[in-house]
Amino acid sequence: MQKPKGTYDVNGELGRKTICIVNLARTLMEKYNYEYWRTPLFESSDLFHRGVGETSDIVTKETYDFLDRGNRNMTLRPEGTAGIVRSFVENKYYANPTQPIKTWYYGPMYRYEQPQAGRFREFYQFGVEVFGSSDPAMDAEVISIPVNLYKMLGLKNIKVRINSLGDTDTRLRYREVLMNYFRPHLDKLCDDCKARFEKNPLRIIDCKVDHDLDIMKNAPKILDYLSDASKKHFDEVLEMLDSMEIEYVVDPEIVRGLDYYTDTVFEVTAESSNLGRQNVLCAGGRYNNLAKTIGGVDTPGVGFALGMERLISVLETEGIDLNTEAYLDVYVIPMDENYKKNAISLTQTLRLNGFKADTDYMNKNLKSNFKQADRLNSEFVIIIGSDEIKNKELTVKNNKTREEFKVKMDDIISFFDERIDEHE
Ligand code: ATP
Ligand code: MG
Repeated sequence: MQKPKGTYDVNGELGRKTICIVNLARTLMEKYNYEYWRTPLFESSDLFHRGVGETSDIVTKETYDFLDRGNRNMTLRPEGTAGIVRSFVENKYYANPTQPIKTWYYGPMYRYEQPQAGRFREFYQFGVEVFGSSDPAMDAEVISIPVNLYKMLGLKNIKVRINSLGDTDTRLRYREVLMNYFRPHLDKLCDDCKARFEKNPLRIIDCKVDHDLDIMKNAPKILDYLSDASKKHFDEVLEMLDSMEIEYVVDPEIVRGLDYYTDTVFEVTAESSNLGRQNVLCAGGRYNNLAKTIGGVDTPGVGFALGMERLISVLETEGIDLNTEAYLDVYVIPMDENYKKNAISLTQTLRLNGFKADTDYMNKNLKSNFKQADRLNSEFVIIIGSDEIKNKELTVKNNKTREEFKVKMDDIISFFDERIDEHE
């Protein structure tokens, strides 16, 4: 049996890296005062058609759809935003007096894509969604989250790219301008773009196929058509970023693949990656019309989603070691089977006192147990046998220096407290 195409298994080093990054993200979200939210892995297909948009690649080509046994149309979530917005509306969070509502999530997403480096059919996203505030400072805070996470991880060559898609007025005006511009060149565009021309000409701008054509480079830029309100919003977002000392470039080519964005859109790219077009590490923006589209409640929103697989791949490219080597604080060895209960009980005590401890479950002899302690990269080894029980005194060995200690059983926790740093 083999795993399905486009999926991957997590184990060993990859498991330790994943947990390390997720822990870091969780701690960061606590500092930012965001709440953890979770929504189902599947939702009614209609949610994604309305939420993600009928003309997006995700909905037209990439969803995993199925009929459940009750003949309902269901879809494995291709992204996190639609579900979180549904949950926000369904649980009437718009009526909560504490606004804005700031949330984060982490979990698997499903898209039927052509698997390649940095592109899977099941992949994991960490993301945030914030509701209720249209303050430009809110956009800047959201952008600062992935930037700070990448910084904490030690990534060097990343770039924030930002653009504005304007409000509904802007979009309607720009749509006309784009249609007039592309109409005489339609025959040069790919089939997808020909279809986008009527439905959503804005999406032509981020076409990956036509990207290098001259007519794409010379296309009118949306920033030149922003309404006064949108222009002001965008300028203020940039000022907030400046005041947070977050570097960015304004990139008019960023229009994003999802239909729901308004005003700010941004991406963070890895400049040093060998992921090719998959070098976009995270992407997001403002979606002031989404809640209304999904649930009839007019609430502004802003958020981003960050891909775990691409992040881990770029950490490797940049040679960043997360210190995820396997290790143990203490390995407890019973002299023989008679001392198993003592070993188990001591291991339990050590764990409850915050140490990373393990013991023998293979009934090994003393020599093999010392080898096991080396394999597990244990800093200390404790031996329990008849003398130890009789004298209520444990034999403790520093497994690196080979130094040996006799420690009263009652003192064992303070012994390790003095010698083992707290591992995060
Ligand atoms: P792309 O242009 O690379 O297809 P996208 O616009 O579809 O990306 P979003 O839906 O905005 O991406 O998702 C945000 C992030 O999630 C991406 O920047 C990327 O890191 C990650 N991501 C998206 N699709 C995949 C995938 N199939 N496999 C792995 N990671 C993905
Ligand atoms: Mg995509």
